[in-house]
Amino acid sequence: MQSVDELVILVVEDHAFQRQTLVQVLKSLGAKKILEADNGRPALEIIHSQTGEAVDLVICDIDMPDMDGLEFLRHIGQNHPKMSVAICSAKELPLLNAAHLMAREYGVRLLGVIQKPFTREAIGSLLERRHLTKVQPKPTSVADTRFSLEEIIQGLSNDQFEPHFQPKFSLHTGGIVGVEALARWNHPERGLVGPGAFIDLLEQHKKIDDLTFTMLSKAAAASARWLQQGLDLKVSVNLSLVSLTDFSLADKITRLVIDAGVKPQNMILEITETVAMTEVAPALENLARLRLRGFGLSVDDYGTGFSSLRQLTRVPFTELKIDKSFVTDCANVDSLTAIVKSSIDMAHKLGIESVAEGVESEAVLDKLRVLGCDIVQGYYIAKPMTENKLVEFLAAEA
Ligand code: C2E
Ligand code: CA
Ligand code: CA
Repeated sequence: MQSVDELVILVVEDHAFQRQTLVQVLKSLGAKKILEADNGRPALEIIHSQTGEAVDLVICDIDMPDMDGLEFLRHIGQNHPKMSVAICSAKELPLLNAAHLMAREYGVRLLGVIQKPFTREAIGSLLERRHLTKVQPKPTSVADTRFSLEEIIQGLSNDQFEPHFQPKFSLHTGGIVGVEALARWNHPERGLVGPGAFIDLLEQHKKIDDLTFTMLSKAAAASARWLQQGLDLKVSVNLSLVSLTDFSLADKITRLVIDAGVKPQNMILEITETVAMTEVAPALENLARLRLRGFGLSVDDYGTGFSSLRQLTRVPFTELKIDKSFVTDCANVDSLTAIVKSSIDMAHKLGIESVAEGVESEAVLDKLRVLGCDIVQGYYIAKPMTENKLVEFLAAEA
C-alpha cells in the first residue's frame, strides 16, 4: 500500500489561486509528488507523458475552459480505469451528482465529490478513501458471447445449469439470514456463464419456466440440506413475470418445494416488473396464491420498474429490494441517499423488510445502517458462490 508521500497526484483546476490552495493543503497532508494542469487537455498530456511514474490520483474541477471536467472524465474512464479520481467543484449538488453518475457510467474509479470551498478534513479523508474504493468488477467474460435458443435449451436438458448463492446479511442480527439463488450455466467449453447470456432469450421465447423450475428445485434441494445441518437460511429465487400468466404456476411451485422437504415459509420469490404486464389479473392471482401458501414475495430492482408504486399496492409483498443502481453510490451522492432513504421508509411504512443490493463498500454499509435498512447484499459481504463454497463461508463466519 502506497503512503501519501509516494502518491503521484494531479490537480486539474483552472483557477490559479484555488489550485495553489489545494496544492498547499495536499502538501500539508504529506503529499510530495503533485502535478498541475489548468484544464482537461493539458491534464491528459501530463498523464500520457508520465513514462516512469503513473498518476495515482486526480483531483479535478468540472467547470473549466477548453476541455471541461466532463470530457476529461470520459477520457479517464475510457483509457485509465484504474486511476482514482475525485471531483472538486463549486457547482450545485444536483449537477455534481449528475457528473458523479456519468463518470461511473464511463467506468471512472471515482473516490467521491468534494464541494468547494473544500476543507483540509475533506481532502484528508479523500486520501484515506483511495484504498477503500475497489476497482469496478469486470463484466462477466462471456458478455459478448451469443448463444442460440437451441444451445441454451440443450444446456438445460443436459443439466448444465445450477444456482450460485449470494448471502444476505442482516443489519439487525449481524448474521447471514438468507441467500439469493442466481442462475449459472456450467458451459462445457465456455466455462461459467452468467444470466445476461440466456435470460432474455428464454423469456422472449416463453421458455423461461424450464430455467425457473430447475432453479427452484435445486435451490429447494439445497435448502433441505441446509435445514438438516441446522442452517436457518431463507432462499430467494428469481421469478420471471412471463411465467405468471400460467394459472397453475402457484400450485406447481408449492408442490415442488414441499416435495423437496422445504416449507414455503423458507423461500422468497423475487419479481421484477421490467416490461408492462400484459396479463395482469393472472399474475396477481398467482402472486396472491403464492403468498397464501406462505412464500415470501420480494419486489426486485425497486425503483427501476414499470410502475413500482402501483405494484406495492396490488401484490402482497413481504420485502422491498432496492436496486443496486441506487445503492452502490448512495454514500456519497445525495440524490441517491434520498432515494434509498425514502425506499427504506416506504418499506417500513408498508410493514415489510427493506433489502439493499449492490453493497460494494464499508461506507455504503455504514450509510445503510444509519438509514435503518434491514438486510444488505453485495460484493462487500460476499459474491455469489457454489453451494459448497457457501457452506465453507458460513462456517468461517460462525
Ligand atoms: P438481480 O436479481 O438483481 O440479481 C443481482 C445481480 O447483481 C446478480 O447478477 C449479482 O451477481 C449482482 N451483484 C451482487 N452483488 C453485487 C454488487 O455488489 N455489485 C454489483 N455491481 N452487482 C452485484 P447476476 O447473477 O449476473 O444476475 C443478473 C440478473 O439475472 C439478476 O439480477 C436477475 O434479474 C437475473 N437472474 C439471475 N438468475 C435468474 C433466474 O434463475 N431466473 C430469472 N428469471 N432471472 C434470473
Ligand atoms: Ca433478484
Ligand atoms: Ca436487482
